[in-house]
Amino acid sequence: FIVERDEVLKVVESEKVKFIRLQITDINGLLKNVEIPWDELKNSFEKGTMFDGSSIEGFVRIEESDMYLRPDPSTFAIYPWTDQGYKSARLICDVYNSNGTPFEGDPRYRLKLVLNKLKEKGFSAYVGPEPEFFLLPKDSQSNKPILKFLDNGGYFDLLPIDQGEETRKDIVLALEEMGINVEASHHEVAPSQHEIDFTYDEALKTADNIQTFKLVVKTIALLKGLHATFMPKPFFGENGSGMHTHLSLFKDGKNAFYDENKEFELSETLRYFVGGVLKHIKAITAIANPTINSYKRLVPGYEAPVNIAWSPSNRSALIRVPAARGKGTRIEVRSPDPTANPYLLLATLLAAGLEGIENNIEPPSPVISNIYHMTPEERDKVGIDHLPGNLKEAIEELKKDDLIKSVLGNHIFEKYIELKESEWKEFSINVTDWEINKYLWIM
Ligand code: GLN
Ligand code: MG
Ligand code: MG
Ligand code: MG
Repeated sequence: FIVERDEVLKVVESEKVKFIRLQITDINGLLKNVEIPWDELKNSFEKGTMFDGSSIEGFVRIEESDMYLRPDPSTFAIYPWTDQGYKSARLICDVYNSNGTPFEGDPRYRLKLVLNKLKEKGFSAYVGPEPEFFLLPKDSQSNKPILKFLDNGGYFDLLPIDQGEETRKDIVLALEEMGINVEASHHEVAPSQHEIDFTYDEALKTADNIQTFKLVVKTIALLKGLHATFMPKPFFGENGSGMHTHLSLFKDGKNAFYDENKEFELSETLRYFVGGVLKHIKAITAIANPTINSYKRLVPGYEAPVNIAWSPSNRSALIRVPAARGKGTRIEVRSPDPTANPYLLLATLLAAGLEGIENNIEPPSPVISNIYHMTPEERDKVGIDHLPGNLKEAIEELKKDDLIKSVLGNHIFEKYIELKESEWKEFSINVTDWEINKYLWIM
């Protein structure tokens, strides 16, 4: 495990790494990078690498655009698919202003601020995601992805039905070589849909890992002549792709969500954490489900949550508590999808949970019955609210939530709303295929 700069420099030399990619994540959650040759790395470690922040989505204005990337040596990893002559590695970076202060609009920095707050209270946060994605064929002429299934598989299917098995195996091998331990991988419910679960880790590490995961999946698919997409709902009538997010807190080396003497063996800390997350989940939805398409997934009938509820068992709830107890006690938040910026997603979820703990926020009573089978009247009677129905509604909720605003910081808060409102406007004035099919003939 490489932590020190000197060790990284040594490995770069001994492994004959030729290129280093310095990576950051923009406000949209997209990975960006600048590549430096190996002999620039020492300089980059010492002085940082200057870049023009005005061209990165959500960063700074033209007149103050000189910014610095500071590579985090603990994130060093070699890309296993780069061949000898062009062997490349990456380092994930923190973003600094030219005056040497951390840039307040850097998503990774926003997560670090929340983790520091948790640390002040004695907590460390662990996170494990379950990202899902589709593997699609590509048109050999245009090289563009085609909206067709590669296979007709379903949950846990295998060859010859599962046409993604080989690609999935290559992805798993690449992830392992880059230091991400895979626990399981399988064909998912929808045709051409897959899931690969990697081991939970400290929150910052997991956010970094999610970014690495997406890059690896897309790269390996490309090498196999396929296209991998994390778009939440590419096919109407089929399950969408989610990213269930498992969260736990540890204190003094013990799982703070576990208490063998309480009901369901779940601690007060877990209950208040859930209370905080549910209180802020509408605003968090703007981060957890950041695209127009995200809301096509959050509809009844496709194993994605719609209602704001929690349950010690039941899978239809937004927050579920998996059966594991002791060290493995955790909550599973089921609404996020893989288009979420993982740094902002974890920052907002953890900050909301922490507020719940600090203010003893009681969650609504857990729901034991299947919420999908309840009528709207029954849900009203037990006071079950629902998630925002579209991006516009989620943005309006975000505007009203001071805690989530403070977690994002003014810079991201303002840029994010500006960006998402223009996305909504663009969508609203567009004429969709659905409208043409619905109205062109009969109206
Ligand atoms: N694909 C489902 C979703 O959208 C989850 C299915 C599952 O993992 N059981 O969240
Ligand atoms: Mg799973
Ligand atoms: Mg799944
Ligand atoms: Mg799950």
